[in-house]
Amino acid sequence: MTDVVLDGVSKVYPGDQRAVRDVHLHIREGELFVLLGPSGCGKSTILRMIAGLEEVSEGTLWLNGGVANDLSPRDRNVAMVFQEGALYPHRTVGGNMMFPLEVSGSDRAEARAKVTELTRALGISSMIDRMPGTLSGGQRQRAAIGRALIREPSLFLMDEPLSSLDAGLRTELRLEIAALVRSTGTTTVYVTHDQVEAMTMADRIAVLRDGVLEDVGTPEQIYQDPATLFVAAFLSSPPINLLQGTAWAVQDLGVVLELGPQRLTVPWSDPRSPSLISLHGRTVLCGIRPDALTPVHEGTPGRTLTGRVRVLEFHGHDWLAYAEAGIPTVDANSVGAQRKAATAGAEQARAVPGGLGAFGGRLRGLFGRDGSRLEPPPEEEHEGHHRRSDLIFTSGTRRPDRGEEVRLEVDLDRMLIFREDGVRITPPRR
Ligand code: ADP
Repeated sequence: MTDVVLDGVSKVYPGDQRAVRDVHLHIREGELFVLLGPSGCGKSTILRMIAGLEEVSEGTLWLNGGVANDLSPRDRNVAMVFQEGALYPHRTVGGNMMFPLEVSGSDRAEARAKVTELTRALGISSMIDRMPGTLSGGQRQRAAIGRALIREPSLFLMDEPLSSLDAGLRTELRLEIAALVRSTGTTTVYVTHDQVEAMTMADRIAVLRDGVLEDVGTPEQIYQDPATLFVAAFLSSPPINLLQGTAWAVQDLGVVLELGPQRLTVPWSDPRSPSLISLHGRTVLCGIRPDALTPVHEGTPGRTLTGRVRVLEFHGHDWLAYAEAGIPTVDANSVGAQRKAATAGAEQARAVPGGLGAFGGRLRGLFGRDGSRLEPPPEEEHEGHHRRSDLIFTSGTRRPDRGEEVRLEVDLDRMLIFREDGVRITPPRR
């Protein structure tokens, strides 16, 4: 067992290709830790640096309390499984699993007993005398995992081990792998681009984008309390609504979020309002998951959006509806793409000292008591990454009609609010 610390680790490939930028991570002993992100974000590079297969360009890698930058791979006691677990083709499954123990000169009877036990745990006991060429992809991958685990490494690294398998098998194997590595207590770093795999398996997840660490936390933390808009969008199925608007602080009301022709009001009692004051007159981005929108007959003022149902999808347990609402939306990939600084969680929106008092005089008269605007705000120029699009909501088992006008009550507590660069206006709780 071991713990892994990346302290400001970067990787620069030849040609000044920066694959990993100033990553700080602490992977704890015995954890099943998942590196998650789209293809090319630097996940495998981090894994390979931990394994000693790639040099660390900048920063320090610590393994079990010791600096490991220059430690040879064999001195790290790590085992790695790749997408296509490579097995020796002329050895049986049992022979493949036995091999690392033979090399280390283990007692033969003990080694045999270990192989038997592990093949049972992996559900491949009946394949023990089969050649790899006669196995299915899933069976081969189980054997490769067995061969990696048999010598009881202190660190187990897996690089997309399930991505070449079909969906059903992936679901089955991910449960088994998680249970197996937890039962051994081996610290495991698991790379995937599949958010469901990450959410279902991980103790904690690190989300990467363009070599930058965007967020780290338990699956619940990064789903419910993500550091950035990119993370909220990456861990969202069905897709989260990402709405673009402008924040207006209104003395007797709260902060009005003007979303195209519609508005929501964040009351002053909301803990986010101090951060929102500092964004008065500025662009904000709101993330609302489809299940945080509830169709209602009479909406509460300041908490309701309206739309006209355009498309319906039946998802078995509920209907997913797409309603035209006239609200500009944003593409998660284009928001904050230029933000290359340290982890986003470290950046914090500045709360205004003294709260609304400092602004009261200036704001009075901009809006009426009911939130209607008395003077038009200055025209805002945006970078052009938004497009008009639909509001997506779940309507439970009731099937809305196409063309129906719907009122959707927004669960404001679950609405995520981001600055224009995609960083949450209030830092996540970790
Ligand atoms: P991921 O595992 O998230 O798909 P990688 O770590 O494989 O991403 O790659 C991160 C970035 O580094 C990519 O842009 C990739 O093209 C680049 N890269 C990976 N390996 C090399 C290499 N050996 N030489 C140059 N660039 C590389």
